Amino acid sequence: MHCPFCRNPDSRVVDSRTADDGASIRRRRQCPQCSRRFSTMESAALAVVKRSGASEPFSRSKVISGVRKACQGRPVSDDELALLAQKVEEAVRLSGQAEIDAHDVGLAILQPLKELDLVAYLRFASVYRSFESLEDFDAAIEELRAQSAGSDAERSS
Ligand SMILES: [Zn+2]
Repeated sequence: MHCPFCRNPDSRVVDSRTADDGASIRRRRQCPQCSRRFSTMESAALAVVKRSGASEPFSRSKVISGVRKACQGRPVSDDELALLAQKVEEAVRLSGQAEIDAHDVGLAILQPLKELDLVAYLRFASVYRSFESLEDFDAAIEELRAQSAGSDAERSS
């Protein structure tokens, strides 16, 4: 692969080691032209299968654009969104499968989004779980209340 500094079309691998518990390989490369070093990561391609049956490569930016809408007007920074997308990718890669259902990507988004911002979570969940009535919102809010009551009880005991 070409050197990111001088664009020399050739580079030499000086070191390879596995990362992420064997899910990827990190290589240190050196450019024979400018002698600068850089790293590359290699991991199995992860495909997302949509409801239509079509598949496309997993993309963090797709995760971010999907979540960004739900975060409109909320105090959520771009850095936090990037971190969320990273968590989602780590979660879906943990399954070890080369293909993952788009629905499961949505599931993997719910948990980190809940930790990030509850309002954004409710908005995202309402679309993702296709809430149809106020009762659906009530049920989801009840669920959140029950969970936070549970963690309060854990703290006080
Ligand atoms: Zn170079």
